[in-house]
Order: sequence, then C-alpha cells, then structure tokens
Amino acid sequence: MRILLVEDEKKIANFIERGLKEEHYIVDIAYDGEKGLFLAEINAYDLIILDIMLPFKDGLSICRELRSKKIATPILMLTARDRVEDKVLGLDLGADDYLAKPFEFEELLARVRALLRRKETDKSTILKIADLELDQLTHKVKRAGREISLTSKEYTLLEYLMLNANQVVTRTMISEHVWNEDFDSFTNVIDVYIKYLRNKIDKDFKRQLIHTIRGTGYTLKERSG
Ligand code: CA
Repeated sequence: MRILLVEDEKKIANFIERGLKEEHYIVDIAYDGEKGLFLAEINAYDLIILDIMLPFKDGLSICRELRSKKIATPILMLTARDRVEDKVLGLDLGADDYLAKPFEFEELLARVRALLRRKETDKSTILKIADLELDQLTHKVKRAGREISLTSKEYTLLEYLMLNANQVVTRTMISEHVWNEDFDSFTNVIDVYIKYLRNKIDKDFKRQLIHTIRGTGYTLKERSG
C-alpha cells in the first residue's frame, strides 16, 4: 500500500519513511505543503500522513482542499502536543486521526494499520485466498501451510493483489499502489515482479492463483476463466 508523507522536518520525515519501508509500505515524501497537495491530487494514495505546520501551505488547508475536492483518502494528522485546537480543527476538516509529536514509531504504525484496515469490512489482519495466506501484521506469507519468503516489493505486490482478489488489477493500478513517484512507466518491471511472485507462489502448486488478463493486467483468484 502506498502512503504520502507530508512533513517538512527532514529528520522526522526520513525516520518515518525508513520505518514505513521496513514494513513494506511504498512511500512518497513532500517536504512542503504545496508539493504535498499536488501529489495527493495526482496520485492514488491509500493513506496520507500530514504534518500541520508546513511551508507554503499548512496541513489544515491541505486537508480542507482535499475533502472539498472529494478526495477521501484517509488522513493521519501530525500535531504539536501543545496545540489541541489544531487537532480538533483537523478532525472537523475531515482528518481521520491525529498523532501528537513526539511519538513512538510503533504508535504511528498502529494508527497507520488501523486507518488502512478501516477500508476493509473484515478487521482480521490475515488475507486469504484458496490455500494462500498473508498476515499483514507479521508479514508472513504461507501457501498450503508452507512459509514463503518474499522480498519487500514482492510482498507489497502480493498484498495489493490479495486486497483486490477476484478483480482485474491493471498495470496502472499496480504502478499507482505498489510503486512510488520514481516509477518508470517505460519498463516492464511490473511483469518482472509478477514473474518472481509466480515462481514463489504458484510454480510448485497444481492450482495457479495469479492469472494474466491479456493486454490489461492480472487477477488473483482460485479458478481461471
Ligand atoms: Ca512541520
């Protein structure tokens, strides 16, 4: 899943980015409010982590503008501990949750997970299709009870396919949710990663779960056809 982080303090931004990447999230960073709003409008993020005090445009204005443009991406606000009124205003303007600075990374992570889960009807952290299981909390992936070791990118791609199981997932959707701003659309990198995943998930099993939809993309489902 892909997260936009809007935070002008580079040390904090890089610390959060590093932690999120370790958890297999795809991250874009904006160090000022204008860039943050721009990225939030052109890309399909699953979550936005938004600082309030920002150069050029503050987080509260960004939140207001996104909601007025019907962009409903969950927003986690970062507030200064002594600014209670910002936090209330942020929630009134359409933010989904807030976290006061300074915070422990584990707490940020717990809130990120809760906000990303809110979209799903099932509150379980385990995604399942046929005999394939992915635990979003521990990042363990199993097929027929056997643990499968994936790289960070393979994990993010599989998680995205599983969240959209039984639907056609286009290459554009994959590039928007599994890669960040650095994605180069002139490469076949998505197909390459699908091939890696097939080798690990499907190759040793009779029933294939990843299916190619010619000219469009892929679908993850129990049966073909
Ligand atoms: Ca700031």
